[in-house]
Formats: sequence, C-alpha cells, structure tokens
Amino acid sequence: MLNPRSAIVVGNWKMNLLIPESVALAEAILEGLDKGSPVQIGVAPPFTALDSIRGLLSGTGLSLVGQNICCEAKGAFTGEISASMLKDAGCDFVILGHSERRKFFAEDDGLINKKIISAQTAGLTVILCVGETLEQRENGQTHAVIKAQLQKSLQGLSRPDMENVVIAYEPVWAIGTGKNATPDQAQSVHKFIRDLITGSWGMETGDAIRIQYGGSVNPDNSGELLAQPDVDGALVGGASLDAGSFCAIIGSIMNTKREEA
Ligand code: PEP
Repeated sequence: MLNPRSAIVVGNWKMNLLIPESVALAEAILEGLDKGSPVQIGVAPPFTALDSIRGLLSGTGLSLVGQNICCEAKGAFTGEISASMLKDAGCDFVILGHSERRKFFAEDDGLINKKIISAQTAGLTVILCVGETLEQRENGQTHAVIKAQLQKSLQGLSRPDMENVVIAYEPVWAIGTGKNATPDQAQSVHKFIRDLITGSWGMETGDAIRIQYGGSVNPDNSGELLAQPDVDGALVGGASLDAGSFCAIIGSIMNTKREEA
C-alpha cells in the first residue's frame, strides 16, 4: 500500500544535557544517520542549547524543535519564552500538550489551544501530544479522552492551519515506563484519531495529517510500531538521548514504511 505521508521522527531531550553534551549528541546523531534519509527528523534540546544546536543542524535537513512556549506573545511573563522567540532561535516545530506539562504544570486543553494559536501565528508547526492514562484505558475511556483533548485543543483551527499540525499519540502509561503500546493498540488509536480529524476537517486533511506514536519507543519495538498504516513516525524520549538508538529507530522506518512507498 502506498503511504502518501512522509514519516517524521523527533527526539525529545526534555530537561537533560548541558550545552557540550547536547552538542556531542547532535554531532553523534548527524554522524550516525543514513545520508539522504526520506524521514523528516527533528531534535528538541533544552532551550539553553538551542543556539549551539542550530548551527550544527544548519544545511543538514534536520529540524530544530522547541519543547514548550508561553501562550502569550510578549510582555511581563518572567521566565517564559514566546513562540516568536523560539522561531527566532531557529525552531520550526514546538511540542505542545505533552503529558509531563499536563501533569506537572497543570496545563489543560484550553491553555494548549491558546499555545497552538500562538505557535501558528509565529510560523511554528505544532506537535500536539494526546493520550490517556492507564486508569482511563482500563475504564474504557481512551477514545473519549482523546476526542476531548483533540476537540478542545484544536478548536478554531482552519484546514490550512491543520497543515501545520502533527499529532503525537502518547499513552501516558507508556511514557518513560519501558512499556510501549502494542502495534495493534497504537494502530487502533491512530486510526481513531485520523477518523476524528477527517470528520472535523475533511478527507484531505485526515489523509495528510501525520500521527506519531510516542511512549517507550526503542530500536527493538520501532520496526513493528512504525510499520502500522496510520503510524507516521515517532516522538522519542529516553531513546533519543542515545545517538545509536535514535538513528536505529529512524533506520527501522526506512526499512518498513519506505518499502511501501
Ligand atoms: C516522550 O516523553 O514524549 C516520550 C515518548 O518518552 P519515552 O520515549 O521516554 O517514553
């Protein structure tokens, strides 16, 4: 089957690595990647390392990704970073709605919606994370939770706006736990998400939108996960801190999805 969507893999380094360590990791990734990979690749270093990594990525085709923004455009918000500041620092993407932001910083879908609009106004493509907790899954609420997260956080976005959105399905119980969703579980939720997007924005948007899987992705499970027809890539946390693992995950896409294309 021909999959018309290009795959996207992003490494979320979270609050790890000082500048020299970030530079070393980016250099090792660049060194380890297959040249001419059709996979879109991004790295999300801590804010403090953005400038150093920007220089390294220049001309490589890899994208710089921010981990968060403030929902406000500018002003008296001490300690915050705006969407246009991230753009100015060389980012093309920003991760929003991550479960760690929802859990530790009480971010809700209303705030995430404001951040998405702010990001798009500044010209950033949004990677919107959604996903259910273990309790919600066990109570049969997975679809309802994800539907509500998508409807509220994407409220007001037009079809052209949706061209600059990537969804990351990240079951909370799979993040950083070493317990990934099975390929069938991931495919089933990804298909549900695609159908929801199609229902709200039409077939063209539904077919085009890229849906990453995130949650304990590693080189041993990435091949099967990324071979699923509605899984268009991965958002990788822990394994992205190791260049060999991150490159192997990207390589596993090239050995599965790209064979289909
Ligand atoms: C994440 O934080 O987005 C993530 C998927 O983490 P991990 O790969 O470590 O589960």
